[in-house]
Amino acid sequence: MRDYPIDTLEKVMGKNLELQNKINELEVLNTQLLSEKSEETNREYIWSGDLGNWYLNTLTKTITCNPVILIPLGLESDELTYTVQFDSLIQALHKNDRKKMSTILTKFLEKKDDYFETEFRLRSRKGNWNWFYIRGKITQWDKYNQPVLLSGIMFDINSRKNKEKELESKNKDLTRDALTDYLTGILNRRAIMTVMEKNVGYFKITQKDVSVAILDIDSFKHINDTKGHSYGDYVLIEVSKILNKHLRKKDSIGRYGGEEFMIVLSDTKACEALAIIEKIRIVIENHVFEEEVQVTISGGIKEFNNEFLSDFINQADMKLYQAKKAGRNRIII
Ligand code: GH3
Ligand code: MG
Ligand code: MG
Repeated sequence: MRDYPIDTLEKVMGKNLELQNKINELEVLNTQLLSEKSEETNREYIWSGDLGNWYLNTLTKTITCNPVILIPLGLESDELTYTVQFDSLIQALHKNDRKKMSTILTKFLEKKDDYFETEFRLRSRKGNWNWFYIRGKITQWDKYNQPVLLSGIMFDINSRKNKEKELESKNKDLTRDALTDYLTGILNRRAIMTVMEKNVGYFKITQKDVSVAILDIDSFKHINDTKGHSYGDYVLIEVSKILNKHLRKKDSIGRYGGEEFMIVLSDTKACEALAIIEKIRIVIENHVFEEEVQVTISGGIKEFNNEFLSDFINQADMKLYQAKKAGRNRIII
C-alpha cells in the first residue's frame, strides 16, 4: 500500500467529516421536504414571491431558506441548498432585535410551545433595514426528544411597517394639532383643561398642592384698535413666549380664551404661585414690544382646596376680575 503524508491524511479525514456533516444535514432536510410534499394540499400558506420557508438544523446550526430572502441580504449562500450559518443570520439582525429573537427562541425551545413568531429587522445589501415576520415550529426530534429541525415561514413586512410608521407619525401630528393653539403654539383650551383635570385628580390621590393662575392682557381691545389685529396677534405670540420662558418645567400653560391664559402650577401653593406669576407680570411690563407699545397683564390665582373644578376656576376668575377693578397690571391671590 502506498504511504501518504500525515497532513494529507488529516486533510482527507477532515474533508470526510465535512462531507458526512453535509450528508446528515441534507438527510434531515430531505426527510422534511418529503413529509411536506405529502402535506402540500393542506398548506396554510402560499409559498411565493417574498414569502419563504426556512429550515434550521440544530446539529449543524445552519439555516436553509428561500434565496429570495437571502440574496437581497447579501448573505453568502451555499450553491446547493441556499444554506447559511445561523450565527451569521443572527449577526445580520438589527441590534435591538437580536436579544428579542434569542429570548423568543430560547423560551420557545424550553417550553416546547406549538410555534414561535416574531418580527425583526435584517440589514440589506444596500445597508438599509428590512422588516421580516418569522413563524416556526419544531418539526423533527432525535431519539432523546431533542429538537433536530425547526421549520417555518418568513416574509417581508417592510411595506406594512412603513405604512404603520407613516400612520403613527400622522397620528402624532394630528394629536399635536388637536391640542395646540394654532396662533401661539401653546396648549389650547381643551388641552389645558385636561391638564387641570389630571392635576386635580392627582391631588385627590396624593394631596399634592396645585394652583391655577388665569392671566388676561390689559386693554387688549385698545391695542387691536390702535395697532391693528395682526399687531394684536404678535402681542399674543410674544406674551406666550415670555410665559413659556419663565415658567418651570412642571407648569403647564394654555390659551384659555382670546387674550386669556391659564397656567396650571403643579405641586405649588398659592403663595409660591404668586411669586412666580408676579415675576412674569414684571417681565411683561418691562418687555420692549415692537413700536414700544406698553403691554401689561392682570391675573388671579387660586390654590385647589378640593372644591368642584368649576368653582375652583371661577374663584381664580373672580380674583382676575378684582385685579382689573383695582386698576389692572396686578396679580391677586
Ligand atoms: P381688559 O383689560 O378688561 O381685559 O380689556 P380688554 O380690551 O383686554 O378686553 P376685551 O374683552 O374688551 O377685549 C379683548 C379683545 O381681544 C377682543 C378681541 O377682539 C380680541 N381678541 C381675541 N382673540 C384675538 C386674537 O386671536 N387676535 C387678536 N388680535 N385679537 C383677539
Ligand atoms: Mg379677556
Ligand atoms: Mg383683556
